[in-house]
Amino acid sequence: MTQYPTLHMIIGGEKVSGGGRRTFPVVNPATGETLGELPLAEPADLDRALEIAAEGFALWRKSTPQERAHVLNGAARLMLERADDLARIATMEQGKPFHEARIELMMNVGLFQFYAGECSRLYGRELVRPEGQRSTVRWEPVGPVAAFAPWNFPLGNPGRKLGAPVAAGCSVILKSAEETPASALGVLQCLLDAGLPPQVAQAVFGVPDEVSRHLLGSPVIRKLSFTGSTVVGKHLARLATDNMIRTTMELGGHGPVLVFGDADVDKALETCVAGKYRNAGQVCVSPTRFIVEENVFEKFRDGFIAGAGKVVVGDGLDAGTTMGPMANPRRPEAMDRLIGDAVAKGARLGAGGQKIGNQGYFYAPSVISEVPLDADIMHEEPFGPVAIINPFKDEDAMIAEANRLPYGLAAYAWAGDPQRQRRLAARLEAGMVGINSHMIGGADAPFGGVKWSGHGSEDGPEGVRACMVLKAVHEG
Ligand code: NAD
Repeated sequence: MTQYPTLHMIIGGEKVSGGGRRTFPVVNPATGETLGELPLAEPADLDRALEIAAEGFALWRKSTPQERAHVLNGAARLMLERADDLARIATMEQGKPFHEARIELMMNVGLFQFYAGECSRLYGRELVRPEGQRSTVRWEPVGPVAAFAPWNFPLGNPGRKLGAPVAAGCSVILKSAEETPASALGVLQCLLDAGLPPQVAQAVFGVPDEVSRHLLGSPVIRKLSFTGSTVVGKHLARLATDNMIRTTMELGGHGPVLVFGDADVDKALETCVAGKYRNAGQVCVSPTRFIVEENVFEKFRDGFIAGAGKVVVGDGLDAGTTMGPMANPRRPEAMDRLIGDAVAKGARLGAGGQKIGNQGYFYAPSVISEVPLDADIMHEEPFGPVAIINPFKDEDAMIAEANRLPYGLAAYAWAGDPQRQRRLAARLEAGMVGINSHMIGGADAPFGGVKWSGHGSEDGPEGVRACMVLKAVHEG
């Protein structure tokens, strides 16, 4: 049986806690029980982490690709060995079903292995110059990275935030979500146990605005990697500008899914229902607005309602659970507000629309249809287990609806005609497009958005390059 661990920060390899520091209670969202008290950083902790991160960068920038690859491969092996424990801890503090947490960890394993290979491909180029002259373009690590990870993928988000700087030769200070600290610490510990020098990667927790102002106000930090809401992303981008800190911003979305009459509607339904309720809809690339051609609208809506009825809601540690609780009490409140507002404005409630039980943060798998444009949910990311299904006349109207919002993270389309598939791939305004598939990620593929969904990419070769800068050297 997995014990929930004692919580601490990791600064310079030391476990830091106590000493009169403020604490934050970490709660199991399935039971409401307090799992542990998380120590929060004071300014002196952050100053120490910054000083050590500067030392860590001076050290790690000189590491060889082989040394970095050795650490990343070693950490991947340790994650595999510890997979069941780490996945259970993630479920305890975030709520998702155990099998989803395990898949998330396996994605970290794949990403670290991919990045290990990428370490030896970080070369630049030599320019053509007259004899006796030499010009080269080199990639160098950007410097110490501040990385802020949210709670929805308690293992996967820290994995992304740590793996890329380590592969690039940077140091990193990770502030993962205070709601899911033990998962992040577990991932970091795998890197440290695999031989990563303790100055290179550290973990702090705190009052988010205090930590981000402190770190981004320091000349030590040269790069910010943030995943979270657009509102917070804009705030952090402004703070980063004062020190000209480079940023990768992985922000909100409002995933449109276009379903055409010539598609395999049964397959679309199966994939869309599974995708919608994965992680209780708390996914930035969650399919959200189902934009359905009117000749298959009723079949799709009724099929979705039937699918929602088959979702098994429960504690993520119980075998058979296919959807856990929401991660924190803010989410079911937001669901009630958004669904209530839509129904009051004329939407039809097909399923759910209410909290479940009187312990934990469970919410019923929900479906609303014929939702008017003035409903808040048509503009605001719901980040929860609700599908919005509306009928449309033709392709142009469907694409216009898909591109209506300022978000552009993931977009999906189900269509049979190959010409239409190509038009959709070209016209959908999104960083990632899935055609007849919702598999839009992978260790080797860039993950990121356009418009208000942010800029820059994680994963793929691009994820490592995002922690590097170019230098052109001209020798006469
Ligand atoms: P939030 O926007 O306050 O927090 C989201 C994340 O950002 C949390 O991990 C939080 O610790 C962090 N954060 C907040 N303020 C920060 C600051 N000043 N400096 C550094 N980090 C900061 O809200 P929330 O209630 O936790 O989540 C609500 C919304 O956030 C959701 O509706 C969704 O839109 C968005 N969100 C997006 C993702 C994603 O994967 N893109 C993940 C989690 C939450």
